[in-house]
Amino acid sequence: MSSDRIKIVWIYPDLLSTYGDQGNTIVLERRAALRDIPTETVHLRSDEPVPDDGDIYLLGGGEDRPQILAAQRLRADGGLTAAVQRNAVIFAVCAGYQIIGHEFGGEEGQPLPGLGILDIRSGRGAQRAVGEVVGDVAAELNVPRITGFENHQGATTIGPNARPLAKVVSGVGNGDGQGFEGAYAGHTLGTYMHGPALVRNPALADLLLTWAVGMELPPLQPSWSERLREERLNAVLTPR
Ligand code: GLN
Repeated sequence: MSSDRIKIVWIYPDLLSTYGDQGNTIVLERRAALRDIPTETVHLRSDEPVPDDGDIYLLGGGEDRPQILAAQRLRADGGLTAAVQRNAVIFAVCAGYQIIGHEFGGEEGQPLPGLGILDIRSGRGAQRAVGEVVGDVAAELNVPRITGFENHQGATTIGPNARPLAKVVSGVGNGDGQGFEGAYAGHTLGTYMHGPALVRNPALADLLLTWAVGMELPPLQPSWSERLREERLNAVLTPR
């Protein structure tokens, strides 16, 4: 944390914000406030420079064309690469997840360059993945089973310098046949889970806050978010 508050930068809501991704910023603000940690959130439009003093950068999902434009502008800006180098937290969903990798598939599946800040590559999957996804998170992250909604054509393969965020229990996830969902390395974490992901998985929000402040946070009373998570888990995993 660079100052007395956590600075949250929501990257390009004008291009990357499907399925209520703004909820991720709100949950981070709220769960920090409940621990008396002030936050400041910047909604960064795509014609503005990426600030160099953010603690947490959020990227949401997007349709193919806004995704391509966002990738071009972020590559030209360079600010996210610098943020990773100073160990800031990056949380990227779906189109944002694909953008932070080495490459992703364009409208016709043609390979387009990403930011290369997470060792993943995305291309066009065999078929669009739409629906609920549930995954068991890598043990070292200490986050219980996560749930979300996915809607993507892209499929993603993880390289040797990143690890799978979760093993898929239900749904598609990365969709490259390996049975994983999302990826992470250092303080950079990407996922296909919308929903929005941090609303549905408060422990994931707390992980990002912990990374940002550099220490463990006191636990909170179970909230509506936990109840929502339980409800979605039961809805997906309980046979009717
Ligand atoms: N356009 C990307 C894909 O279909 C990402 C979609 C999204 O963010 N929901 O793979």
